[in-house]
Amino acid sequence: MSVVDSWVQRLRGTLRPIGEMTHWQRLAAALDLHPTDLVPVAPELDYWQITHAGYSHQEIYNDVDKTTDACLRTWADLRCDAIWMYVDISHQIENFLPAERRAAHFVHRGPKDYLLFKPLVETLDEAIALYESRAFEKHLADSRAVTHYTPHMLQLLEFQEKMDRQVPVIVGAASPINYAETIVEVQRLVRWTITESEDKVRHYLELCLAERLEALDFYRDVAAANGCQFFCVFGGARTWGPRQLEKFGDVDRRFVDKVREIFPYVFWHHCGHNLPQALELLATWPGIKGVQYDQPYHSQKLSWSEFYEITARLFSGRRCAMNAPTTQVACYGTPGEITQMVRQFIEATVPHTSAVVMPGCEIDSYAPVENVRAMIDAARTMA
Ligand SMILES: [Zn+2]
Repeated sequence: MSVVDSWVQRLRGTLRPIGEMTHWQRLAAALDLHPTDLVPVAPELDYWQITHAGYSHQEIYNDVDKTTDACLRTWADLRCDAIWMYVDISHQIENFLPAERRAAHFVHRGPKDYLLFKPLVETLDEAIALYESRAFEKHLADSRAVTHYTPHMLQLLEFQEKMDRQVPVIVGAASPINYAETIVEVQRLVRWTITESEDKVRHYLELCLAERLEALDFYRDVAAANGCQFFCVFGGARTWGPRQLEKFGDVDRRFVDKVREIFPYVFWHHCGHNLPQALELLATWPGIKGVQYDQPYHSQKLSWSEFYEITARLFSGRRCAMNAPTTQVACYGTPGEITQMVRQFIEATVPHTSAVVMPGCEIDSYAPVENVRAMIDAARTMA
């Protein structure tokens, strides 16, 4: 029996209800700014669930069934309001490299560690050439996007459908500016936005956008066609300083314009230090229903309650607010600290807009299970 069918057989008809709504209804309602029975909780558990299920990252690297098993095992155990796919950096950029160069660019350290990667190129000319030569297309067929990511995504969507959409699967894709950063490393791209001519940086970003718009055809034909409705855009927050956003932010917005034609429930992942102007823009770009925001910008001196409330007021009537606790507190804090942070977030947010408990970035693989449970319990015990 397939890994999906064995989980469906084990779980169908045996799940205890949580609250009045299904997980799907709860998350959808929050994103639609409608009332929910409980505050949804959907931490980005992608790497963490591999560890939680007892696998090492090396062990699942080329094993789609084990990857999917880890996600479904974790969901059955914790009953979060969404299932996040397992995603690593090789899924995103291995297809830019010929097979023989990949081993040198992607490095596994310990069994729980993130997959490390080295930037693909070091100059803006090389980055432009990489796109102009359509490297991403040439090396796609044997890359992990095809051999691992796609079958894993399809297995999770099969589970979603066979469970009658009780729980949504979140599929995500990086924005053009996120790609532009990742290919060369963030600090280089940020430097180039100052040292290189605007036209040349613009040309590079337009190439990144064109590739991303083509990639969305895949998400439409393969993800949406198989039931995916919840879509996370991993944005380029790290590059978004005031002048970068003003000059180049439209590249990411044009990507969202196509995303929203494909998926009904789109939210924006905005990790790192969030520029206030960026949050204001994300409150207005058409098509985004929620923002998974993160930390105040460097210059802002705010308590967490103040930051939560300012953001909730900004989002009022427009966006669902997704946050708490921070990924650092989720990993290194105590369960008590996590409970407190989740409560602060909910208390500061729900007077103004809907809330989803979802740290600003993915949960660290080393985060203790007690901490993840504390986050979920805190959401489940507050109306
Ligand atoms: Zn992130």
